[in-house]
Amino acid sequence: WANAGAVPYRHLAAALDALEATRSRLSKEIILTNAFRVMLAMSAPAGEVEASCYLFAPAKDAQAGGHRLRPDWAEGKPLSLPHKSITAALLEATGSSKADMTRLYHELHDSGEVALALRERGGRQKLLKAPAPLTAGGVRKALLALSELSGSGVERAKTGRLAALLRAAQGTELKWMVRTFLPHMAVGISLEASVLPALGAAVEWQRTGRPRAEKVRSSQDEVRHCYALRPDVQALVTALLEGGFEAMRESCTLQLGVPMQPMLAKACSSIPELQKRIRGALPEKAVTLAAEFKYDGQRAQIHVLRNGDVRIFSRKLDDMTYKYPDVISALKRSFRRQAGCVLDAEIVAVVPKTAEGAESEKVDIAAFQSLATRKRKNVTANNAAVAVKLFLFDLLFLEEPLIGLPFVQRRQKLRENFQALEDVVAFAEVEDLEADCQPEVLEATLRRSVAACCEGLMVKRLDSGYEPSTKRSDCWLKLKKDYLESLGDSLDLIPIGGWRGSGRKSRWISPWLVATYDPDEGTLGSVCRVMSGFSDKFYKENTIKYLGREIRKGPEAEKVEEKEEDVEGDKSASEEPVEEDLEEEVLEPESSGLLLKRPAPGVDTAEQPPFWFQPTEVWEIRGADITISPKHMAAKGLVDPKKGLSLRFPRFMRKREDKGLHQATTPTQLAELFRKQGQHR
Ligand code: ATP
Repeated sequence: WANAGAVPYRHLAAALDALEATRSRLSKEIILTNAFRVMLAMSAPAGEVEASCYLFAPAKDAQAGGHRLRPDWAEGKPLSLPHKSITAALLEATGSSKADMTRLYHELHDSGEVALALRERGGRQKLLKAPAPLTAGGVRKALLALSELSGSGVERAKTGRLAALLRAAQGTELKWMVRTFLPHMAVGISLEASVLPALGAAVEWQRTGRPRAEKVRSSQDEVRHCYALRPDVQALVTALLEGGFEAMRESCTLQLGVPMQPMLAKACSSIPELQKRIRGALPEKAVTLAAEFKYDGQRAQIHVLRNGDVRIFSRKLDDMTYKYPDVISALKRSFRRQAGCVLDAEIVAVVPKTAEGAESEKVDIAAFQSLATRKRKNVTANNAAVAVKLFLFDLLFLEEPLIGLPFVQRRQKLRENFQALEDVVAFAEVEDLEADCQPEVLEATLRRSVAACCEGLMVKRLDSGYEPSTKRSDCWLKLKKDYLESLGDSLDLIPIGGWRGSGRKSRWISPWLVATYDPDEGTLGSVCRVMSGFSDKFYKENTIKYLGREIRKGPEAEKVEEKEEDVEGDKSASEEPVEEDLEEEVLEPESSGLLLKRPAPGVDTAEQPPFWFQPTEVWEIRGADITISPKHMAAKGLVDPKKGLSLRFPRFMRKREDKGLHQATTPTQLAELFRKQGQHR
């Protein structure tokens, strides 16, 4: 700690080493809390603690391609470098050969460990004079500057800067620096669920000497709540360090321009269950519900700033303002006042009246997928290829925060201050019902929503406040049209492995192995093999994405191809994929950056696919029902002590680009769906 309170990067590396060595959630909590307690004892400045939070937290997702070093919603490029540039920087920093690196990779299967081994052997590095020790603030600053580089020769410049940083890394700092660039840090912690709450616990330790366990818990919860309201690490850390919990509560309120965590709904698989759950602990009390149509589009949190500027944030809190200039101009016309406000809404793709295929006088709601084809950049109100309509359902701020008000009042303010504009802005269709109404009444509303091309209903208590949180609330329940079929909800799963396809698909990965994610433990439990619902284009693009190229055809595969017919829809999850000819497919890990030589850390499965992947994205999968499985280990221990849960007849629906790993289906949710399925039957 030589450098006037600056946090040595080696302090973080030591904590990360310890975090990696344990799977116990409590141990991870203690390690992180102690790491922060040392920082507080050394009077580390807020900027250093902020940098430490970001450097501890694992990657957000593949798009960010590394650590989230600034808020999701803030401007600035993500920290990303092609795998080959990272390799080049490492070779330059350690003075090693490519052959050495490839050999070590086959032995160690991990880029961070490879980096350590290369440095151990490297010639050039050893001759250099040891550079000045790295600090958390210094590393974050250097990485942010690196990500901002642009212009010609940018990759070479980035490689050079990274090589300089890697050269300065001592001990296991090198391993963690390399891993910072990989999509997944794999130590089983996240900024909002573990890192920031640990800082809260450390502040509580500092305040009271030796706090009781409940005090530690409540301080962690308070930090989570404040961060959900204002996901701004800098604001939170500064307030907490300078003025304690009181200052944090004062500073972390809903701010115009800063998206808060949206309120989330729990899934229900039957109407009786919904009626029971929503009444809560006081079943005798009369409760009125708003049964709103559930539109199938993209969640949008819209902030109208006091100067009239508008910003639109996604479900993951990314800024997507530039994608929707048409929504902004429609919203401005719809707003009856000039004031700062925050809205919760859904943007839905529509087929305009004039377009061929539109059936009614009004616009028709189009498939969700068409939103994905909308350009991300340089969209203008006139050139937006996919027409959209905005469905408003909540008002969260109008001159002042409204989230403490009951929904019925927020909704009234919403209707008073905005007007519907034909074809472009509407209020979510709703029916107010008593919670103890006849189930047929709710079912009729559900059927009406499905007939209007919606996904089902969002049922909300009219007396509830708005709860910004990553945890789902009992005051909002979702009832999907799947209820009318079978399983109450689709699953959001993560591809973690795959097999080589047979016949027509022999160049592609099929099936894919998908998993749930437990954000608290950092574990991934396999759920099923998916081989249905994909287009050929999808197979090709994603095989190249995950493997770096298509798979070479073997003679066996060609023979099968002539005979095979596409019976995809009928294939069950237990079908064995083709595994021959795999020896010739020695794919280098750097070919895609997503291919691993062994399961990603935290993966639990009895499956043995030839290809393992870095878990980076979320796919929506639908299935017939959930069964107990000896092969798939998702939710192991929750329903059966040794077996997990699997999905029968899985079918791929779409990629959930609006979701990161932390929003995927958790083992607890899967177990809940399994249990509900029994009740439903
Ligand atoms: P989430 O994790 O947000 O619940 P999910 O993938 O589970 O996402 P869904 O089950 O499809 O999503 O349902 C929740 C989503 O439904 C919301 O995030 C929002 O985007 C959308 N939605 C559509 N209509 C409404 C509505 N009237 N009220 C609230 N949310 C709505």
